[in-house]
Amino acid sequence: MQRDVVLRWIEQIVATVRRMLLGPDAVDPAMAMPIIDEAIHQLLGPLALLVPRLDVPSAAALLRDPERILGLARLLDLKAMALTADSRHDEAAEVAQRARGFELAANACPQCGAIYDSPAHSCAERFQTLLALDHSRQEPWGSRHGIVFCCYSLQHPKEQPDGVLDRAWLALHRLVVEGDEPARLFEGLRKHRDARPPGWSAPPLPPPPAI
Ligand SMILES: [Zn+2]
Repeated sequence: MQRDVVLRWIEQIVATVRRMLLGPDAVDPAMAMPIIDEAIHQLLGPLALLVPRLDVPSAAALLRDPERILGLARLLDLKAMALTADSRHDEAAEVAQRARGFELAANACPQCGAIYDSPAHSCAERFQTLLALDHSRQEPWGSRHGIVFCCYSLQHPKEQPDGVLDRAWLALHRLVVEGDEPARLFEGLRKHRDARPPGWSAPPLPPPPAI
């Protein structure tokens, strides 16, 4: 099914099932459940058996497409509503919680996959807060600015100018694998702004993971 069609299709199912659960026609929760389960089955396709057995982050990583994940959240919300109408309150609470998890996962950072409790938060916003602390030169932030910058750049490679990722990779390799002392390491990088400091080596930078 095409991506842009998925959410419209789900909205139609939601409207139909809500009428079955809330009226004004005759209310029939038992009729609603197979419709919801079939819609979930169609949405998940070959993953229909696997996804319900996985925790939300693993399932979302497998589904990948934010619209599909959000679609699943909508259908699970609907299922929670049908379970409530059928007085199956414990199951309804469990399904509603899973729906909320998928809703958050649909708004995960597209580069590193981080999940936030509110759409108001993002990796970029948190990084800016951390940078302000770095630049205040207060400890424990000031002396770790180079490490923070390298980690964030490698986790969010899309906007980084040419060369930044190679230098970040080199710095973290020197720090973690070779055990260089951080202050000396970053001083060395500052002295050789346009080239790799003589004698410093690192394995090739691996490609970013697919999120
Ligand atoms: Zn991120």
